[in-house]
Amino acid sequence: VQFGDQLVSPEEKTRRVGGVFSSVARRYDVMNDLMSGGMHRLWKDRFVARVKPRAGDVILDMAGGTGDIAFRMAKRGAQVTVADINRDMLDVGIERAKSRRIEGLSWSEQNAEKLSFADASFDAYTIAFGIRNVTDIPAALKEAHRVLRRGGRLFVLEFSTSEWPGFGQAYELYADKVIPRIGKAVADDEESYRYLVESIRRFPKPDEFRRMIADAGFANAKVEPMLGGLVCIWSGWKI
Ligand code: SAM
Repeated sequence: VQFGDQLVSPEEKTRRVGGVFSSVARRYDVMNDLMSGGMHRLWKDRFVARVKPRAGDVILDMAGGTGDIAFRMAKRGAQVTVADINRDMLDVGIERAKSRRIEGLSWSEQNAEKLSFADASFDAYTIAFGIRNVTDIPAALKEAHRVLRRGGRLFVLEFSTSEWPGFGQAYELYADKVIPRIGKAVADDEESYRYLVESIRRFPKPDEFRRMIADAGFANAKVEPMLGGLVCIWSGWKI
């Protein structure tokens, strides 16, 4: 499988992705602000507005990392399990939740490809900027379907490809020239940020990924593009 611009075994890819996030965990939140000019907050707000979490909803926030999505949902009264393959990201999240006094969260180390949760455990499954890092994406979507109850919904927030003329190219330039430099200057880690940029480039186009969601068994699979598709929200129902 592909890791950045190299070919590696699936196990090696999962290991290297682990290395990337362990390396960036402590600087992860400030880097998101720097690299997106704060825009990731707006994308996350819009995403959670689509999920519409209500008091008592039981939600799995997969690849939940340091908790940005889970915190927004817990504030609306949902019971959220934050699951991530990376202990270092979860540890930063646990500290942040404590200092902000956010309740209603539990934390769990999980690989999205093979979850330890029982069938039909959740009302909603969210994954934000996580799915592109998963080695076997169809396996992760199948697991999402399995752990959702009937009537439950899947929500994915991820980078994809912008169809706005000129904008796509401008972004490419920014991603190639600027992001790795910020990574080097702020986190002293150019390589990790090169991987992150490359993984965005390789992610399917909005409609291709919508089909992958449908192929995993989700009904009414939809995509809502932002910035012409540079960032998208996909959703689907388990019926
Ligand atoms: N959802 C958070 C947010 O929006 O800020 C974190 C996103 S971060 C870019 C991606 C996360 O995906 C990392 O915390 C990483 O450890 C996690 N991840 C990567 N591969 C995974 C897998 N196979 N299973 C679960 N989590 C995974």
